[in-house]
Amino acid sequence: METLVKNKFEFHDNVLNFSNKTFYYIESFSSLKIETLSKYDAIILDARDIEFARIILKKFRSHSNIEFYLKPIFLINSKTNEDPLLKELIDGIIISFDQISETINDINQIHLKTAQLESSTSNSFEIQLFKKVLNFMFTRETNTFTPHPDILSSIGYCYPTISVNFETFEEAKVLELLEWAEKENLFWPDFFDRVYLCSNCKNGHLSYREICPNCDSANMRSEDLVHHFPCGYIGAISDFKNNVDTVLNCPKCTKNLRHIGVDYDKPSIINHCQNCNEVFQDYLVKAKCAHCKTDTDVQFLLSKNINVYKLTKKGRTAAVGGISASDFALSNEIFGTVNLKTFATMMHYEQERIKNNALLNANVVIIYIENIFDLYRKIGKSKERELLAEFVNIVRDNITPADFICINNPSVLSVCINDVPLVNAELMVSKITSKLQELVSNNFDGFVLNVFTQTVILSKEQSFDKQLHHLIKEIVEKG
Ligand SMILES: [Zn+2]
Ligand SMILES: [Zn+2]
Ligand SMILES: [Zn+2]
Repeated sequence: METLVKNKFEFHDNVLNFSNKTFYYIESFSSLKIETLSKYDAIILDARDIEFARIILKKFRSHSNIEFYLKPIFLINSKTNEDPLLKELIDGIIISFDQISETINDINQIHLKTAQLESSTSNSFEIQLFKKVLNFMFTRETNTFTPHPDILSSIGYCYPTISVNFETFEEAKVLELLEWAEKENLFWPDFFDRVYLCSNCKNGHLSYREICPNCDSANMRSEDLVHHFPCGYIGAISDFKNNVDTVLNCPKCTKNLRHIGVDYDKPSIINHCQNCNEVFQDYLVKAKCAHCKTDTDVQFLLSKNINVYKLTKKGRTAAVGGISASDFALSNEIFGTVNLKTFATMMHYEQERIKNNALLNANVVIIYIENIFDLYRKIGKSKERELLAEFVNIVRDNITPADFICINNPSVLSVCINDVPLVNAELMVSKITSKLQELVSNNFDGFVLNVFTQTVILSKEQSFDKQLHHLIKEIVEKG
């Protein structure tokens, strides 16, 4: 028996089977592609090169698929380092492959917890991302979000489990998301620190300077103001100095100054601008943003609290119970659309209409935009309404006035196209798809929108709710 132990933890082609688990070993400087690794039970990540390990870890934890973002990941060859991402988003550190046996319990625990998670589609970007974060916390049995000082973060702090989903320069979006979660009563905040951000781009890399109130130049010299009691003269200390010795002489009465507090004092400081020659007592303080170069008076900087957040009861149960979300709010607001409830009612009448006349028909179209939340993450949620309205315009331009459109949620649009053959409806839909992709690509830096569509003839037999549910489920799983 004992002789076999030696070879027990040897990897073959980076794969090791042990105790019914398959491990994949990612060596430093190997391929950055992780897409083929979802089938392994756990990952052993070589951290010899911290930057490489960080990139791989970020790829896993920022993935939108649960098979990746919840994957048990252990570091090997890890040097001590202060990278918050590498400290908080891994499941442990092993010193050698022999310690793989010690990871089995943790892996089992994570798999058990993962099996309890609720899964559903999300109404908003916040819910989608937050559910993901809560899933991670639930499977790792943590309840607290701690901010870590982080020089890579654009605000100087990061919250690894959330921040990993954003680029480091977008860190301010993490704060917005946390504020949302606080309002939704998922988190409870405890004050930790405060940061000041550029009011233009929300970056925290600011350079603070004392500047001249007249010309904004930072090129100024400060010196003490001296008050000579016997004659009452007040002036800059340089007026009292000479080139020969350190004795101070009053320029008005020529007497030597003797003891501070007795015959003179220094009531304040005087500033002299070397650029415009202005002399003044109070300078301004401005902060120049290293990112967008905006120079802001400090009183107008954005001040944000950095809190330690704890999950509330609602937050703790949301991983297994789901985040209860109200109906997608924008569906009532976008011109030319009906909400889901109205849509279902109209489709019910549509079924009645076509039942009674064999010459009539109706087509149901589902347009699923798989990566819409990635786009919002890039362009900001404030653009959501505007963009959806544009999407609806495109759909509207390519159907007839009697057809109707419903926004189920930001990633799903349903359309009813009446009285044209299925092939014609399919043609209309493929035109819509390319127009949607074109719009986004042209306006957002070549972003490729993943659009999946399904066009079917409305069934006369099955209830519309069932048809819709089935169609969406099929398209989401296929996508
Ligand atoms: Zn004097
Ligand atoms: Zn000046
Ligand atoms: Zn800025």
